[in-house]
Parts: sequence; structure tokens; C-alpha cells
Amino acid sequence: MNKYLEDLIKLSKYDTSISQFEPKIENQKAKLATFVETAEAIKVGINSTYLEIDDLKSKRTKNNIHLSELKTKLDSIAKKNKDVTNEKELKALQLEEEIAKEQVSFANEEIERLDKLTAAKEEKLKEFQEKLKVEEEDIKEIRVVVEDTIAQINNERNEVYAKRSELLSQFDNKILTFYEKIKRWAKDTAVVPVKKQACYGCFMKINDKTYAEVLRGEEIVNCLHCGRILYKGEEETVTTEA
Ligand SMILES: [Zn+2]
Repeated sequence: MNKYLEDLIKLSKYDTSISQFEPKIENQKAKLATFVETAEAIKVGINSTYLEIDDLKSKRTKNNIHLSELKTKLDSIAKKNKDVTNEKELKALQLEEEIAKEQVSFANEEIERLDKLTAAKEEKLKEFQEKLKVEEEDIKEIRVVVEDTIAQINNERNEVYAKRSELLSQFDNKILTFYEKIKRWAKDTAVVPVKKQACYGCFMKINDKTYAEVLRGEEIVNCLHCGRILYKGEEETVTTEA
């Protein structure tokens, strides 16, 4: 095979594998990010549950203050009761006492209701904290695996980079410029195999003359349809001479 063509195939393969490293690394990072996001969502849940509990507790405190005010009021009503001089005053005091007692029982019911709600929220908080613990342990494990995998990918990438620069050190400049021009639009498919007499870049059938040239591999042949550099695919064993 033509040496330049051989070099081009190698270079193209290195470039293709180099451009595949970044998505592989991103994929690893995304794996970890999914777990971190879940943990963050749990933390948000924990914070808002804490706020809800604080709110319930402050409502409970208000009810307690109200209760002690009512108690003072009832005490003073009891005192006034002794000094009542007529029926009208007595009735007014009784009514006042009745209302205060109703308010006491309402405040007690409210406290009971708030306590139940608080207990439920505290239960929820506990669940959140357990979930977070599990998630954080998972994150620790996954982080180790992901970091190892990324390090491995980086090693492979460095190896390919080294091979690539070694290849480039003895590469023909004109051929390199030619390749880079095609690569600008064709990206990783600047150099493609021919399979079943078709260009594997544009998938168009190539004519017999071009096909014969590709099979011989004595010179650099471009696809007449798209301009990519062609080489003989592995399964392409038929020769036009046969
Ligand atoms: Zn083509």
C-alpha cells in the first residue's frame, strides 16, 4: 500500500479515537453528577422540613403564650366573682368565663394538632437523613470508580497522543494539509473505508475505475461524490481483475 495512504489511515484512526475520549470522560462525570443531584435534592428537602418544623414550633409557642394569658384572665374572673353585687354583673362574668374556657380548649386542641404535625415532620426528616446517608456512601464509592476510569481514559489518550505525534514527526506536510482540509468538514470521517464498492463516508457507490484504484492502494484516491480519502475495507477482497 502507498506509504502516505497508510500514514493517513493511521492518523485518522488516532484522531477518531482522540475525539472519542472526551465523550467517554463526560459520560463518567455525568454518572457521578446524577448521584450528586439526588443528594442535593434530599438536602433541599431536609432544609425545608427544618423550616416547617421551626414554623410549627413557633405556632405552638404562640398558643402557649395565649394559654397563660387565658389562665391569668380566668384567675381574675374568679377574683371578681367574689365581689359581684348584682345579677347583671354575675351574668357578664359568667359569659366572659365561658368564652375564656372555650379559648383554652381551642388552644389545647391546636397544640395537640401542631404536635402531631411536628412528629410527622420529624419522622420525615429522619427518613431524609437516612436516604442522604445512603446516597453519600454511594457517591463516595462511585467517585472512586469514576476517578479511576477517568485516569485510565487519560492514560489511553496520552498513549494515542504520543503515537500520533510520533507519526506526525515523519509525516509529509502536503499530505497533512490535504488531510486537515478534508477533516475540517468531514471531522472524524476524513479517511474512510470502501465496503461493497461504496464510500463509507457518504455511502454512495463508487465507479469501477475509482474502485479498482482503491483496491490497488497504490495512490491516494478521493471519493468522487464527497471528496473523502478512500481505502480498501477489510472485507473488500474482490478485485476487478478477477
Ligand atoms: Zn464519499
